[in-house]
Formats: sequence, C-alpha cells, structure tokens
Amino acid sequence: MATLEIHDLHVSVDTDSGPNEILRGVDLTVKQGETHAIMGPNGSGKSTLAYSLAGHPKYTVTGGTVTLDGEDVLEMSVDERARAGVFLAMQYPVEVPGVSVSNFLRTAATATRGEAPKLRTWVKEVKEAMQRLSMDPAFAERNVNEGFSGGEKKRHEILQLELLKPKIAILDETDSGLDVDALRVVSEGVNRVRESGDVGTLLITHYTRILRYIKPDHVHVFAKGRIAESGGPELADKLEAEGYEQYVKGGTTS
Ligand code: ADP
Ligand code: MG
Ligand code: MG
Repeated sequence: MATLEIHDLHVSVDTDSGPNEILRGVDLTVKQGETHAIMGPNGSGKSTLAYSLAGHPKYTVTGGTVTLDGEDVLEMSVDERARAGVFLAMQYPVEVPGVSVSNFLRTAATATRGEAPKLRTWVKEVKEAMQRLSMDPAFAERNVNEGFSGGEKKRHEILQLELLKPKIAILDETDSGLDVDALRVVSEGVNRVRESGDVGTLLITHYTRILRYIKPDHVHVFAKGRIAESGGPELADKLEAEGYEQYVKGGTTS
C-alpha cells in the first residue's frame, strides 16, 4: 500500500515583493484506498498545498518533508512525481494548443506507465472511459482545454484520473463550476477509481456539496496554511452548519 506522508511542510510563494510563507507546517498522511477531504476558506493555502505536492516551480519548500513510500517526493522533478504515481487535477487547468486530448492522454500514460500503451487497446480504453463519463467521442480530437466548458474540463480531469491510475490523486476544487448532473458524473468517476482501492485521494474543496456524492474517510479543516482540525465525515456536517468562521478568527484570509 502506497503512503504519502507530509510532515511539517512549509512553503513560500515567490511574489514581486519577495517570498511569502503560505504553508505553515502541514502534517498529513494519505494511504492508497483512503479518501481525505481538505476543506477550508478561500486563501487558506489549499491550492498551494496541491501545487507544492505536484512540484510547481512558483512554490518553494522552505521546510518539512514529503515522502511516497519513503521516497523523497520533494527531490523529484514534476515528471518523476507523475511517474511515481502522484496526480494533480488543477483548479485552473491550462490550455495545450495543438495537442489533442487523445494524444495528450497517450503521452501522459506513456510517462506514467513507463511504456507506450498499445495503440489498439489504448483507443478502446479511452473510448470506454469516455463513455463512462458520458463524453462525446469527438471530444478526444479536441485540443486540450481549448474552449472547454467548466464541465468538460472537469470530465477531462477525471478521464485522466481513470486512465492514468495514480497512487495518489489530488483533486483541487473538482466540484467548482459544475451543475448537478456534471457533478454526479464526475463524482461517479472519482468513486469508480476509489473503489479500485488502488488510489489515495486528496479531495480539496471549499464547499461540502461534493461530499454528498463522494464520502470521505477523513475530513481536514485547512486554515491559515495548516490543518486546524481533523475528523471523520461528521466534521463536514459541522462545517456545513457552522462555516469556517471559528477557524479564521484572529487572522486574515484573502
Ligand atoms: P486556496 O486554494 O485555499 O484558496 P491558495 O493556495 O490559492 O488558497 O492561496 C493562498 C494564499 O497564497 C493567498 O493569499 C494567495 O494570494 C497566495 N498565493 C498563492 N499562489 C500565489 C502565487 N502564485 N502568487 C502570489 N500569491 C499566491
Ligand atoms: Mg482559492
Ligand atoms: Mg484553491
């Protein structure tokens, strides 16, 4: 069972006026097969955590450790992290002009699997995964994220998740901007991957809505750059009722 261990992680973001510490000592352990919801107010550093785990160059780790089965993740390049099984679906996915969804996915699968998937089985695999996500087959020939609607972007993320089968999946606000139907399709995709038992999921969200569809094993409240409280699914109910106010008192969030 793969285990991602984050210990006392401190991260600064580089701004025009110098480095700004965003993560202030994050501790978290995610095992394959577990689903952890990370919930918190806007500006608390949730996306910074996601980007830092994926190796985004704008974020500088100033302290702490991140390991995957004891291997130092922070020492790995972005590609090496993906190959090791760390997957990030971004809150604001980037456009990749001139690269079709189908080619993008095959390149990504080649990188993560270590060899190019056989073309015939691959085409079938993609087609079936797209069907499960109620996606139009023509979608495979479109350029990545170019003119994608919010719902298409999210389905594309889940398509990647299903095909790449990472050990640790980080889903940053996968629920944002989705209507109820799209939310259900996307959640079903996450649940399918989850039921395989092979993936540990870090479900980052501001709202409790998605947790009606994806039941987390653990819920963590993120505030001011660290985990302020951890609990079971009942913690999400408490947040739904009481909001984040008690966690942000006496400090600023942006
Ligand atoms: P959340 O995802 O919880 O809303 P973020 O991680 O996006 O929070 O942001 C946390 C804080 O870090 C915010 O104050 C934000 O302005 C700042 N921040 C994050 N990324 C950058 C960046 N690339 N440049 C400047 N500031 C950033
Ligand atoms: Mg935000
Ligand atoms: Mg965010």
